Amino acid sequence: MKTLNDFNFENKKALIRVDFNVPLDEDFKVTDANRIEAAKPTIIKVLEDGGSAVLMSHLGRPKGQKNPDLSLEHICSKVSEVIGVTVKFVSDCVGDVAEKAVAELQPGEILLLENLRFHAEEEKGDEGFAEKLSKLGDIYVNDAFGTAHRAHASTTIVAKFFTDKKCFGFLLAKEIEAIEKVMRTGEKPVLAILGGAKVSSKITIIENILDKVDHLIIGGGMTYTFVKAQGGQVGDSICEDDKMDLAMEILKQAKEKNVEVHIPVDVLAADDFSNDAKTQVVDVTKIPDGWQGLDAGPKTLEIFKEVILKSKTILWNGPIGVFEMESFAKGTIALGNYIDEATQGGAFSLVGGGDSVAAVKQFGFEDKVSYVSTGGGAMLESLEGKTLPGIAAIIG
Ligand code: AMP
Repeated sequence: MKTLNDFNFENKKALIRVDFNVPLDEDFKVTDANRIEAAKPTIIKVLEDGGSAVLMSHLGRPKGQKNPDLSLEHICSKVSEVIGVTVKFVSDCVGDVAEKAVAELQPGEILLLENLRFHAEEEKGDEGFAEKLSKLGDIYVNDAFGTAHRAHASTTIVAKFFTDKKCFGFLLAKEIEAIEKVMRTGEKPVLAILGGAKVSSKITIIENILDKVDHLIIGGGMTYTFVKAQGGQVGDSICEDDKMDLAMEILKQAKEKNVEVHIPVDVLAADDFSNDAKTQVVDVTKIPDGWQGLDAGPKTLEIFKEVILKSKTILWNGPIGVFEMESFAKGTIALGNYIDEATQGGAFSLVGGGDSVAAVKQFGFEDKVSYVSTGGGAMLESLEGKTLPGIAAIIG
């Protein structure tokens, strides 16, 4: 796997696909510069080698139309501030104007191209468009994990015009390494914690992960489909009746593969889906009608704690309760604390995909786990066992 350190960028122009799809306020000011910060090490490496950086990204969903509200010019000053170098901007990402701006670029300088998605060809993965992009650099660097699952012109197709002059940026390389640790190279016992609302949205991940893990914790809304499938009473809890056979099949497969599955034994049930609802702790198989399980119970948390603390590699995807409501966030917070403890004890912990990242940030666990993935959809597809086109394009 080629990374930036395999190249010297002296007098070279690096065409870098970054993910600068950042949130803007009504005055077009960047409200969260995390993604820009995340790309900084890659850009600095190129500049310190004595090269120049041509940055390309999308912003929002202009759907192939030029839309001034979604111009990357709005973020130029923020990128300059974060990197510490005044960033030049060019009003198109391909064609004469872009090629001229690149030709004038000197070592140590940065050029930001206009929003890639102002051209419909970008998302179509158009080869002609990708070839035009390829004229804007000597070496192609992909550092945008968030779009690595898309076969777009700038994330995948462009790579074929660079033969061996292409590599991952530091951010993307770190993401790949973290996923590899969980899926292949991690120290045993390996544990996956899958929460979230529905079995149906996690099924491909569960099926793929059964071959890789020693323990599987199933929590959150998914719990009730598993419990009801085994004959429990789940009251008004969220439950996918049409997925009960599948749940039984998963449990059977897990047994065959020697995976220990841990499902909640007690839950915090509520008489309404609201923060002010009446609550009681009940056995997960005896939830009364009119009540729904919205968080893990104390006995469950003890069991989960024990499993987490003996694991050496931990993947966490999905909250184990309705963490958006304070009354039902305790289980998810406790889980974060156990993972923190395990990490301090030497375990590798990866949090990724959708709402678990939001939960981790909200409760301040971001710096306590080993790695928080930046790519929602890309992370989920990796966990499903798919080869991401953006990654294959560099390796292949
Ligand atoms: P996902 O995007 O699949 O990871 O699902 C995350 C959502 O699952 C969050 O919005 C949680 O509020 C929700 N969730 C977790 N536990 C439950 C539960 N017991 N009942 C309903 N929703 C839940």
